[in-house]
This record gives sequence, structure tokens and C-alpha cells, in this order.
Amino acid sequence: MIKTEKVLHLKSSRGRKVRVVREHYLREHVPCYSSLCQAQCANAEGKVLSGEVTHYVMPDAGVARDFMEILEFREIQGIVFTQTACQAVQHSRGRRQYNRLRSLLKDPRHHCILFANEFQEYSYCPREKGEPQYKWQTRCVYHAAVWYHDHLAGLKPVVMITEDQTAVAEYSSLNCGVYVLCTQEYLQTFWPELQAALELYCSIAQSLQEKGSEGTEREYTEHLPAEVLEAGIKSGRYIQGTLNVNKHRAQHEAFVRFEGSSNKSSELNSDVLVCGGRNRNRAVHGDMVAVELLPKGEWRGRTTALTEGQGEEKGDETQSQPMATGRVVGILQRNWRDYVVTFPPKEETQSQSRNSQRILATPWDQRIPKIRISTQQADKLQDHRVIVRLDSWDSTSLYPNGHSVRVLGRAGELETEVQTILIENCIHVPPFSEAQLGEMPVSSPESPWSVDPAEVITRRDLRQTHLVFSVDPLGCEDVDDTLSIRSLPPGPRGERLELGVHIADVTHFVKEGSLTDLEARARATTYYLADRRYDMLPAVLSADLCSLLGGVDRYAMSVMWDLDAQTLAVNKVWYGRTLIQSSYQLYYELAQALLNGEEAEVPELAQLPPGERDAKLAQLTQALETLTHVARQLRAQRDKGGALELEGVEVRAQLDEDRNITALVPRQPLEVHETVAECMIYANHWVARKIQESFPQQALLRHHPPPRQEFFNQLQDSARARGFTIDTRSNKALADSLDRAVDPRDPLVNRLLRVMATMAMSNALYFSTGACPVDQYYHYGLALDRYTHFTSPIRRYADMIVHRLLTAAIAMEKGAGPAKALASNKELEEVAQQINNKNRAAQHAQKVSTELFQCLYFREKDPETDERCVADAVIYTIRANGMLVFIPQYGLKGAVYLKNREGQVVSERQDGGCDWQTGSLQRYLDRITTTTAAGTSTFNLFQHITVRISVQLSRCHSDTIRLEVVSNRPHQAPETQVQTSQPQGARGRSQLVQEVVRQAEEASQQAEEKRGRASKLSEEEREFRQSKCPNLYSLLEEVRELALLDLAACGAGGGGLGAAAQACATSA
Ligand SMILES: [Zn+2]
Repeated sequence: MIKTEKVLHLKSSRGRKVRVVREHYLREHVPCYSSLCQAQCANAEGKVLSGEVTHYVMPDAGVARDFMEILEFREIQGIVFTQTACQAVQHSRGRRQYNRLRSLLKDPRHHCILFANEFQEYSYCPREKGEPQYKWQTRCVYHAAVWYHDHLAGLKPVVMITEDQTAVAEYSSLNCGVYVLCTQEYLQTFWPELQAALELYCSIAQSLQEKGSEGTEREYTEHLPAEVLEAGIKSGRYIQGTLNVNKHRAQHEAFVRFEGSSNKSSELNSDVLVCGGRNRNRAVHGDMVAVELLPKGEWRGRTTALTEGQGEEKGDETQSQPMATGRVVGILQRNWRDYVVTFPPKEETQSQSRNSQRILATPWDQRIPKIRISTQQADKLQDHRVIVRLDSWDSTSLYPNGHSVRVLGRAGELETEVQTILIENCIHVPPFSEAQLGEMPVSSPESPWSVDPAEVITRRDLRQTHLVFSVDPLGCEDVDDTLSIRSLPPGPRGERLELGVHIADVTHFVKEGSLTDLEARARATTYYLADRRYDMLPAVLSADLCSLLGGVDRYAMSVMWDLDAQTLAVNKVWYGRTLIQSSYQLYYELAQALLNGEEAEVPELAQLPPGERDAKLAQLTQALETLTHVARQLRAQRDKGGALELEGVEVRAQLDEDRNITALVPRQPLEVHETVAECMIYANHWVARKIQESFPQQALLRHHPPPRQEFFNQLQDSARARGFTIDTRSNKALADSLDRAVDPRDPLVNRLLRVMATMAMSNALYFSTGACPVDQYYHYGLALDRYTHFTSPIRRYADMIVHRLLTAAIAMEKGAGPAKALASNKELEEVAQQINNKNRAAQHAQKVSTELFQCLYFREKDPETDERCVADAVIYTIRANGMLVFIPQYGLKGAVYLKNREGQVVSERQDGGCDWQTGSLQRYLDRITTTTAAGTSTFNLFQHITVRISVQLSRCHSDTIRLEVVSNRPHQAPETQVQTSQPQGARGRSQLVQEVVRQAEEASQQAEEKRGRASKLSEEEREFRQSKCPNLYSLLEEVRELALLDLAACGAGGGGLGAAAQACATSA
């Protein structure tokens, strides 16, 4: 090892230049991390570059700094990042960008490695006196490239890419086998099919170029340097927190939610209000900022009007009590993500581009400011939705600067809108890569997968001994769970039963740390949108090898309870890996029919002779009956503890983050739903006990914190309006009082009350046992002291973690250590938070996509003439200037305003119809009244009224549904429309989805034909589409059948299509 000195010139955050001398050690052996290594490098630790590429590519410091996004394309393989380039990123782009690079280097899905060139004795070159830093860095990277090429004995060409033309001229002909190209030429030569990368390159390059020609006039106050902010936060002068923009008043109102201990001033116990753009000082929604409070005389109040939807009423804008108000003095951390924007129509772009190439694009998310984008394709991009990234926001610029990343398509088209929803929720679900699919076992008609005899002997074989079956929605493909029940020989304490829950053994196929595992972890869940789903695991697992289909051998993870037949006291529990063969793949309606003793055909028995068939049928029915009996008792035990009916299948409400209902799913009266759900809850509970006992500091559990009492106010007020009392002192009291709050005339009342109770709940969340005190493990909704997710590993990553923990616990019991070190409490807690975030994103995306479909459905209809735009609605909340209603027919909720901008109010005519007239409005707890010259109209809580549904179109944001009162009476459906006694939220919605999908397909077909006729039109399409991206229609066609989100068919907790369970905020 050689010791030298390395001189660094750093800039302090105050702008002072500092000269630092560091000892620098050079070594002869620095791992090259190439599989072509000829020198026995110590490459064992970490990723290794495959030799199966045409060349290796080495970006210089400038490329790594400015064009890292290009290098993030997974298609670009064989990237060698030098230490020099990495340090350049670290020093000039900050921690966030550097962390991004580090995770890229760590992620096995990306084909890139780090070469520590500056520690390599022969590739290191010290900086020469007077040599500019960028020159020296480029020279370092070039030397590294030459060394690397020689080190691999010339087996692989190495291409250095740089933006420095003089470097290209200087180096490109020096060494054979080492090429020097500029980035654009490199992309064009080596990745011609990767059009998206080239487009992104041009977009970034353009943006960098424009940045050089910025104005100098200051629009905002400069941010304070980091050290000043830090000291100010410590002393309590500044407050640290996350900026939250009010969606409905995005230009004017934002709040800073403070974090941790930053709040020194004790009088401050709320958010800090930030009014207007100047005070917000370039902070973007989600950024971590430092704020300084304004003098008390300048404090303002927050706006308290009904701010839902578009119909904000000026007259009702009242300001509340003045609150702490401040201004942003600095940004501690930018939390920018990818944003979808819409390019303005032609008229606007022309006026803008007269002076410059810059276009102001409007983000889909109303909380994000307009973004200035430099592009030469403004004409072609008009009215398109485009993904952009923010680059900078200088004090001289009114708007932030960004660059476009990818074109999604024309605004308003179904595919564009769905992709927008995914991007806006940070959901990345690219098709599974070749490498990922390469890890999958083969299973095809030619070579079907079969069990491995070596594996079989390690498992408990239940194929001959246990009658195993599944109960799922009809047509379910991914069968996560199966059940068994049988009598055991009587023990000393009497009759015994054995209940078994057998879950797909996903972790047998997905090894921890494999590419498939990393992808599943990143997704965290299967995503269900209104018309499609994106699986967490490749189909060969989710629909085949892991799916516990009938009549085939499958690996399972089982929990089996030895129970006292009378009391259900647990004598013994067995956990372990098994081999099963499910005898029946039942669906809910069929299982219930068997239980009811109705005539029903079991497909598995159809071919048998009558005698045998009857015997088997009797055996199956007996098993279902015993199971029902057991589940009833288990349920009764939980009820005693205070379990809430909300969790079960009675009501499913989809909620958004503000606890608004987005949909109500009617109760399915099938008891078998509850039976299956109860068994799954039981299994989850016992696995939770097991892993928590084995790993008290690092097990993954799921808790449901008790709700805050004030959230119940609305529920209690509403119930009181109907003469019911809701006791919220405990979950048991709540459950009992909800059971009593039944209006025999209108079953919807009880359902809406339950929904309100659900809205008051907090979300159930995953956590690591070491990160939370034991008394907070409790699951309020299920009334269980410990709970986790074990029963759906095909569509939830949490369950995969739990399977691994259970496997480790079993191994530990047998005296063996875990095969792989368990995640520490800290690591596990991080993963838990990641999964919680992804679940929230999944819920939100599902909600927004449902709204999208509702809008697409009604957009095509004339609200004045189309019968379908008029519907019955129930008032469930009273607000200051209107009310919130639920429309059972479409599973739709929204605000109905009773007062408009002109100050007119809705007034009822003699015939029950409604008009707008000048008048006043009075709000009460249980009703809202309007008074006009014509008289007084009253709208009561839980009253049925008739509303007209229309769509408020928006070019840049999502369209929204508008509701207006047609009549103060229930809707009289036209004779032709078949009315059923049961509200059909779910069915209505799935029909709605189907119709919209059909329309979109027709439209796309027509567009296709049109393109065929006039091929000129497709030029633009060709230019902006990603060549690598497969046609979404073809991709999704195969899953569409399944993906139609029929919530009515969704089973409880363990159901196959668990969209409802996923969407339900308090899903077990
Ligand atoms: Zn080597």
C-alpha cells in the first residue's frame, strides 16, 4: 500500500473556499467486479458485471452528475461508475442524488458496479498544478477506463462517455479498445432502439443549456445557508417541518407540519400557516423546510369553507382564528418526485415561446406549481400529458425549471389517464424483466412443473390424510388459502377437532434477495385499479405454481390446531411446511348452497357415479358444516372482546386519506364469507403470536390503534338525529350500539352509521415488534392483542416476510439457526413503513381510478336528457353550505351545494322539484334548511333525494363529478329500469367500468383505422412513444377478465380478488 496526499478544494456553505489535505492510500488490489476478471480480484462481495454484454460503459463525472437518469434505464447494462464520478455526484448534487446513485449501485436489477479507481495504484492520477477540476476528473475516468480494459486483458471494449468535446478529441484515438464518445452519440450508436433514453437526453441537455441563460432579476428572497438554518432550528428561531399545500387553495395556502423536537416555542401547538407564493419562497409541496414565524400582528387564520370539489362558495369563505403564520427561510430537503404535467394548447405556447423556448406546463397535482420546461417540441406536445422532473428553482425564476422525461399520451384518453394515476402515486409496475422471469421455475403444457421428491421428504404430506379445499370468488385464479377440518381420536379431555389453514408457499419459490423478491418488495402489493390489476408476482407463480388449485400437488405453509371439540380450547398448534392437494375449488355461492342443503352441482364430482358422488358430497358438506360451527364460535369469542362488525363483510367502505367514503359495498348475506374470513383471522393471529414470541424485537405485526374520540362526533351527532345513541367508549360498546342502531324502514341508515364509524378509525398499519411498546400491539377493530398478515402471500409482501419469519421460528425451535440472518428491528421497521406507504398509494390510486371511470362514464351522457344521469341519493353529512350524499346505484359520493355564487339557494316547489331562488340558508346538526319567498325547504340527514350527475371537465387536472338537487324526494325510477331491493353499488360500478372500457377500445380502434388511412398522423405517435414499452392494451387484455373490479365478488380477508380488503381502510 502506498500513502500519498490528496488535495481537495471544497466550498463551504457560506461560499468560502477551503483547501483540505487528506491522506490517500493506494493499493495494488482493488476489485474490478467483472466476471471477466483475469486477476483473481476479490469480487465475491457485491454485484458482478456479466461478460454477456457487447461493451462496458464508463460515464465521466459530468455525465454521472447531469445525466444519471439516463443511466437509470435498466436496459443499459455494463455500467462502471468510477469513484471519481460518484464523488462528483456527491459533491455537486447533494445527498439525495448521491443516495439515488448508491441505491442504483446496490440494486441487483441494475447492471452497474462501482470501481474504486482512485484507490487503485495504477489507475490513480494525482491532480496537476493548475489543472481545472473537471479536466482532472475526466482524465481520471479515462485512466480508469484504460486500466479496466487492460485488467480484463482486452476481452471487453470500454466506452467512456463524456459531454466534453475536447476530451473526445484528446482521448478517442489514444488506446485501442477504449472508446470515448459523447453521450448523444453513444446512445444513438449503441442503443438506437432505446428511443426514450435519447429523448430524455435531449430534454435534459436542453434544460441545462437554458439554465445557463437565466435572468438575474430576483423574484424571491435567497434561502439561508444550511449551517444558519441548522443553528436557527437548534436555537428555536426557525421551525422545521414538511410543507403541505392546501389542494383547494394551492396558490395561497400551505401549512408546515413540524417534525420531531424542532418546536422549541411552547405556545406553538399547531401547524404553521404560510400564505402566498412569496412567503412560501420556492418550497414545493412535500419539501422539508425551515420557517420563521411572522410577528403576531401579521398572523392569519385558515379558510374554513366547504372546500370539496369545485363548488367552493365565496360567500362562505370565512377565516378562522389567527394562527401561527410564517415564511420559508430555507429548504432542508427537497422531496421532488416525478410529476405529470399537461402542455398548454397552441395559442398559449405561441405567446410564450416568442421570447424563449420555455413552456409553462401545469401539473396534474394541483398542489404543485406550474413548471417551466425547455423544449423544441411544444407544438407536438400540446394537450399531451408528460412526465417531468424538477431540476432547480432559483431565486431569479418565478417558476421552477424542469425537463420532460416521457410522453404519456393525449390528455383525456383512458390509457393516458390511468398511467397518470400510477405516476402520480409513485407506482412503478413495469412488465417483469427477462432476468426476473429467468428465476421462475418452468411450467408449460409441454413440461409441466411437478413436486421435487427431495423437497417432498422434508414436508408433512397431507395429500392422503386431509380433505383440503378452497372457497373463493367464482373464477378466482390466485388461490392463496385453503382449509381443512377433521375429527381426531378423543384425548384425555374428550372429543378433538383439527382445523387446518394451508397457505400458498410463495417463499419456497421466491428466495430472499432474488430479483423477483426485490421487485415484489418494491411493489409491496398487487395493485387493483377500477379496470385492471398489476400483480406483485409474475403470473407463473401467482396464477399457477403458488396458486392452490384443485387436483394438483402444491407446496403450502400450514397452521393446524388441535382443538377441544366442545370448547375449542387449543390443545396444540402445529406450524410447518406441507404438501397438499386441494380436492375442491369452491366458490362462495356454491359453498353456501351446500350448507343450506340446496341442490348444487360440484364440478369436481360431476363425472363420478351417483353412489360415490353422494358419499363425497356428504363428506364435503359435513366438513363445511363443522367449519361453520367452529368459525361461529371463534367469532363469538372475538365478539366478547369487542370485535367490530365493520371489519367483516357487512360493510365495506372505500375511504380516501381524508376519511371520505368513496364507495360502499353492500353486505353479502353469505355466512360462508365470514367463516372463511374467521379462519384466516385465526391463522393470522396465531402466526403473529408465534413470530412475536420467537422474535420479540424483530417480528412484523399489524396493529390498529384505537380511534381518537373526537373523530366520533360526526357519527354520534348523525345517529342522534335518528334517535340512536352510539357508545364509543370501547370497541365492544361501539360494536353493541351499532348493532342496535337499526332503522327498520331504511337499512341504509345502519350501513351509513357503520361507514361513519369506519371513517373515524385510523388505518391498520404494519410495524416491527421492536419499534413499538407491547401495549400498542393491539388490533382495535379485530379485538386481538396480536395480529399480522400471513394468509395472502401472493398479493402482499408483508405476508412473505411473515412466512420467512415463521420458517425461521420453526427452524429455531428445532435447534437450527435461520438460514439467513433476520432483518434487524430497524431494517424491518423501514420495510414496514415502505409497505404502509405503498398500501396507501394503492388505496389512493384505486380510489382515483374509480373516480376516473365514473367521470368517463358520465362524460358521454347528456345530464339534461339521459335518464342514467338522474339517481337516488342519501344525505349522510351536513355541511355549512350543502351536504354530502351517497348514491347507491353507482357507489358514488359527493357534495351537493344548496347555495351558489349568486347567493341563490335551492328551494322546493310544490311538486317536489327544486329551483334556485334568492334566499338564505340555515344549518343544524341533523338538517339544513333554505328559506326563500316561496317558503322553507328542509333536507334531513339520511333523507333520500334525487340528484342529477354531470361532469366538470378539466384540461390539466382530473375531471370531477358534479351533483345537483333535482328533487327533495326519493328518485322515482322509470318503469323500464329494473329496481331491486338491494342497493347495487358494486354491480353498478363494474358495469360502469365495462362500458367505459368498451368505449375506450372502440375509440382506440377508430383512431387506429384513421391512422391506417392517413399514415402521416402516426408520425407524431412514432416519435413520442417509447419503443420498448409494450402496447398496454395487449398487455392488459389477458388480465382484464379477472381484473374487473367486482367488489361484490370479493371475499373477506382471505378472498382471492382481495381488492375490497385492500381498499378498505380498516381491512383486517
Ligand atoms: Zn479483476
